[in-house]
Amino acid sequence: MSHISYEEWEPVIGLEIHVQLKTRSKLFARSPNRFGDEPNTNIDVIDTGQPGALPVLNQEAVDKAILFGCAIGAEVAPFSKFDRKSYFYPDSPRNFQITQFDKPIIIGGTVSADVEGKSKEFQIEHAHLEDDAGMLKHFTEFAGVDYNRAGVPLLEIVSTPCMFSPKDASAYAMAVRAIMQFLDVSDCNMEEGSLRIDTNVSVRPRGDQTLRNKVEVKNMNSFTNMEMAIEAEIRRQVRLYTAHPHEDPAKVVPSQTVRFDLEKKETISMRSKEEAKDYRYFPEPDLPPIILTKEYIEKIKQEMPELPHERYTRYTKELKLSEYNASILVSDKALSDYFEEGLKTCPHASALCNWVTVEFVGRFKDRGMPLYQSAIEPKHIAKLVNFIGEKKITGRIAKEVADMMVQVQGKDPELIIQENPNFQAVHETSAIEPFVDQVLSENAQSVEDFKAGKDKAFNFLVGQVMKLSKGKASPDVVKELLTKKISN
Ligand code: MN
Repeated sequence: MSHISYEEWEPVIGLEIHVQLKTRSKLFARSPNRFGDEPNTNIDVIDTGQPGALPVLNQEAVDKAILFGCAIGAEVAPFSKFDRKSYFYPDSPRNFQITQFDKPIIIGGTVSADVEGKSKEFQIEHAHLEDDAGMLKHFTEFAGVDYNRAGVPLLEIVSTPCMFSPKDASAYAMAVRAIMQFLDVSDCNMEEGSLRIDTNVSVRPRGDQTLRNKVEVKNMNSFTNMEMAIEAEIRRQVRLYTAHPHEDPAKVVPSQTVRFDLEKKETISMRSKEEAKDYRYFPEPDLPPIILTKEYIEKIKQEMPELPHERYTRYTKELKLSEYNASILVSDKALSDYFEEGLKTCPHASALCNWVTVEFVGRFKDRGMPLYQSAIEPKHIAKLVNFIGEKKITGRIAKEVADMMVQVQGKDPELIIQENPNFQAVHETSAIEPFVDQVLSENAQSVEDFKAGKDKAFNFLVGQVMKLSKGKASPDVVKELLTKKISN
């Protein structure tokens, strides 16, 4: 794999994010909007394009689009309308998609995201409502089509070409997902397809102001894949421009749609890019325009819950969490809510955050299930952290208790400690003193170093005593004894 020179070439990236809105019914029909049911059970005459079937707009979907628009500081259009986008595909029985073309419901807006420790702002061009298509399923002998997804409401969020690296793109996409989850308007589950991202990638010589042809990259089912796909497409374009320096750039990299091959880590051409005129957009005659009053928009705005950046500020300013920890929690609403639950009975916010996001999340890494879906209760992690704070157990013992909490999920750590006398911290001087004496006699050099002003030597000695006691000695008593004995 050749290395891309970001000094000479500047990638420019824009994203189109399709988000399935969490509504009870479809965008234009009464059939349920529900994932995972038997094929073709959640359908009706509108979803399957039966003659004479007329669409009726779902207000819940409109309200959720408005809420998102308000959350990103966009203009919610007082007038928007639907259009037909014509194309044939077996998963679209009407032969057209109902979408919004020239008058979308959301205009502009800003999403800020942390990119490798730096806060950046990304501009939204617009967001529009449209209905989803069904799904083709391929079997060995035949293919089938499932229309359960046909007609599910989508909000398509179109960014401006405001991203300049694969990291920008994934940070922005994750920030959009976080907003959606905080607003509770979508699950944004990439594996189930409720969040789908198309990326537009172009590359230009650094310093150029004009944009070159963009290539649409499809087929990415995770943020990691998306970063890799963008990286691969940038590399392909740079390779082509470098190999043909004297030819018309528009011919060297034509506009097209590519898909990412995960095995080869390469982007592969699928088809030349359709243009808007190919879709024969025209106003949808069966639906009236959406007219929204200021009062209506204001009423929805009143229902705005806490947003990711507000929670982030609360975490860093009030709870004094590190920026890194705050952004880890905020980028995963369910985990953040889990942490909040523990916080109700735990005054040690930073320690709790560490135990939740590092210790417990780490123990669930290979379990195919997130911590917040396990039977471990947040209040039990809170209890464990409190025990450390009250010096009832040492950090090392706490790790062993945590292991057992993962093994026997739902068990109170207090009970685990009671049942295992080994887990109770030792405070008695008489029990710890022999260890201290042994360590002092075996590490004369460290004692001298400490006397000469090297604090590190003291920590080393504490560590040795802890090791001898198998982690059970109370560190405070150990420090006290060491200090006393060394200064004697
Ligand atoms: Mn779309």
